[in-house]
Amino acid sequence: MQKVCQNCKKNFSLEQEDLNFYEKIKVPPPTFCPECRTARRIAFRNERTLYKRTCSKSGKSIISIYPENTPFPVYDQHVWWGDDWDAADHGLDYDPTRPFFDQWLELRNKIPRISLLNINGINSDYVNNSEDNKNCYLLFAAQQNEDSMYGRLVYRSKFAIDNDFVQDSEFLYECVDCRKCYQCLYADNCESSIDLLFCFNLRDCQNCIFSTNLRHKNYYIFNQPVSKEEFEMKKNEIFSSYEKLEWAKQEYEKFKEKAIVKYSHQIKCKNATGDYMYNCHDTIYGFDAENTKNCKFVADAEGTIDCWDMNNTYYKPELNIDIMGALQTYNIKYSVYLMYSSNSEYSDSLHNCDSCFGCIGLKKKKYCILNKQYNKEEYEKLKGEIIENMKKEGVYGDFLPPHLSPFGYNETLAQEYFPITEKEAKEKGFNWQTETSGTYGKETIKEENMPETIEEVTEDILNQILVCKDCKKNFRITRGEFDFYKRMNIPLPHKDFECRHQDRMRKRNPRKLWHRECMKEGCQNKFETSYSPDRPEIVYCETCYQQEVY
Ligand SMILES: [Zn+2]
Ligand SMILES: [Zn+2]
Ligand SMILES: [Zn+2]
Repeated sequence: MQKVCQNCKKNFSLEQEDLNFYEKIKVPPPTFCPECRTARRIAFRNERTLYKRTCSKSGKSIISIYPENTPFPVYDQHVWWGDDWDAADHGLDYDPTRPFFDQWLELRNKIPRISLLNINGINSDYVNNSEDNKNCYLLFAAQQNEDSMYGRLVYRSKFAIDNDFVQDSEFLYECVDCRKCYQCLYADNCESSIDLLFCFNLRDCQNCIFSTNLRHKNYYIFNQPVSKEEFEMKKNEIFSSYEKLEWAKQEYEKFKEKAIVKYSHQIKCKNATGDYMYNCHDTIYGFDAENTKNCKFVADAEGTIDCWDMNNTYYKPELNIDIMGALQTYNIKYSVYLMYSSNSEYSDSLHNCDSCFGCIGLKKKKYCILNKQYNKEEYEKLKGEIIENMKKEGVYGDFLPPHLSPFGYNETLAQEYFPITEKEAKEKGFNWQTETSGTYGKETIKEENMPETIEEVTEDILNQILVCKDCKKNFRITRGEFDFYKRMNIPLPHKDFECRHQDRMRKRNPRKLWHRECMKEGCQNKFETSYSPDRPEIVYCETCYQQEVY
């Protein structure tokens, strides 16, 4: 079935598997295309834009994903989790004469929101969407790290500075998509390796520089064996100055372009399309997905079963549709940040709840609508009535509309994956944040006066204000960072943490698929790949890749 997206006006198709799923969970088909659906979901997720503000209850100064002047109260996370307030005190009576989402917004503006999602953080105040981190700074969507900073999707790592999508590693710098690595710098897609510099797709390797697709190798440069002395010399040369390091980045990019790549980053997957997938079965359009089964349009997802349209969902969510942010949810529709909850729709920030409709900020509640308590019969009856009215309004079966997001589009993950201008955002009904944090023009060292080598940097740098060479925003060097650069012999960065993150994200493939053919001569296998046809890499099917690289 072909449909036209009500937002971008592009055609999109509903396959039989989609219709079967909608039928199974009793919802009408969506009226937005998959890409617009994703953007609408992740426009509710601000991971990394942090502000200083006051807690609306305690009056204390706190770090928050919300700036000072929000239309809703914001509670310090410890206060928010406390038992001395109840979001059910603000319940609204449903008014059938008014649009449902107007009432939803009215409720939203009364309910205190949590300042940050930073669970069990120790000495890690500037960390969000994260759990169990110690001595960490500006880490997002991160778990169980120590002494690490500047990164997204960093798990179980120590002394990891400036990395994205890395796991179980120590002493990593500027790496993406690495697992079980030690002392690696500028590595991507590497695993179980030690002392790599500017390497791509290495497994079980040591002491390699500018190398791609190697297995079980030691002392290699440009994929050729070298002596220990040659390796040490090259390594010292690269880190001898900022200028040399910049040269090395270019060399690496040029060399990497010649590598053979597999059509998709998939490990142990069966019947899967998408990218960066691990142990996924019967999953279509999965990105950064792990242990998923029978899913479609899922990203940043772990353990997801029987789900359509999910972002940032973990701990085995099952039978859900169109959710951003879920931990162990069952039968949830069109909601954000639902934890350990079931059988609920159009809700936001529920914990241990069951059978709630249009509710916000509730804990341990059942049979609530717009935060008001009903008995089972009343609940079912009123829920049915609201759904009928929403169908008449033409809004049932699509996600929460974008103006209900508590964030500006530019503060959220949506801007990272689907960047648009303020004008475009407003035309599409998204909010926009004009008061961004940070300063400009306050630098005490100009970029041209930055020290070339790390040797000449003294502790005085901790008192200086630097300037990003790309966006001109001011930034500082922290104590942990300074110690790390000294220990690893790395020249100071000339960009702020946001631009460094964006540079790394450009090394990853986009969350888009193209239908292409294997580039090995004589092979006609076709596949869905995240390598666009205009890219330089040599893209192989699974079989041809296995013959070349393993
Ligand atoms: Zn669209
Ligand atoms: Zn910048
Ligand atoms: Zn092939």
